[in-house]
Amino acid sequence: MSNDSSHKSTASAGRRAFIVRALGATAASALAQRAVAEPPKSAPGAATLPPADPLHRGPLQPTAADPKAPVPIASAPMGGLELPVLPYLQSALEPHITANTVALHYGKHHRGYYEKTNTAIQGTPLANKPLEQIVKESAKGGKAQSKLFDNAAQAWNHNFYWQSMKPKGGGAPSGELGKRIDKDFGSYEQFKNRLIQTAVDHFSNGWVWLVLEKNKLKIVDTHDADTPLVRGMKPLLVSDVWEHAYYLDYKNVRKDYVTAFVEHLLNWDFVGQNLG
Ligand code: MN
Repeated sequence: MSNDSSHKSTASAGRRAFIVRALGATAASALAQRAVAEPPKSAPGAATLPPADPLHRGPLQPTAADPKAPVPIASAPMGGLELPVLPYLQSALEPHITANTVALHYGKHHRGYYEKTNTAIQGTPLANKPLEQIVKESAKGGKAQSKLFDNAAQAWNHNFYWQSMKPKGGGAPSGELGKRIDKDFGSYEQFKNRLIQTAVDHFSNGWVWLVLEKNKLKIVDTHDADTPLVRGMKPLLVSDVWEHAYYLDYKNVRKDYVTAFVEHLLNWDFVGQNLG
């Protein structure tokens, strides 16, 4: 027994050391590339993170590049599915959503769903499968897989949420997207009011989505971890209405949070990409 565990612990320490070295090399190389790519007099406060595909599964890149943001995130890889990097700095959504909220929401809540998903899939046929597949398959598994579904779907929903926002977003969309909104909701104002009212009326934890169903744009809400991904709808946008998404910034006033989401953060580019 003791031999076994000491062997395991040595192997595990060796693996950690390897990962740390690998990460160090990656970070050093990224820094070197940045030094070449960026003019030496770049303005302070300019974006310091490289553009990132937020759904990539590479090693977690800490968001410590933002000097104003607390850094609750360990830089070590998680094993299994990797928490994607945020598509912007933790402070990028201020003043509407503060760096404190993002740090806690992304670094603790979102990360926690990934960790629990990884624990649940270990040694099962779903290990090493993409997150979306885990969500869809665990949704079919009934009560036996409800815990896995809850964590995997929350991990997926949060990936979608971060991409549903961008700094200086919001307002009415233009072009084809504007026409679709007018056609299916009457006007942008009616779309906006519907989304805000759905969020306000939603009881307890959940999500408010813009989806495509039977070629029509709709706003729907889901409870807890539930997601349109497993309900025959195509998700286009989501706002998180769990209290942890807004309580630090807005206390219990969900309406003000969702109004700020629609008016200042909503990422229409992301909606357009999802519409295809
Ligand atoms: Mn959340």
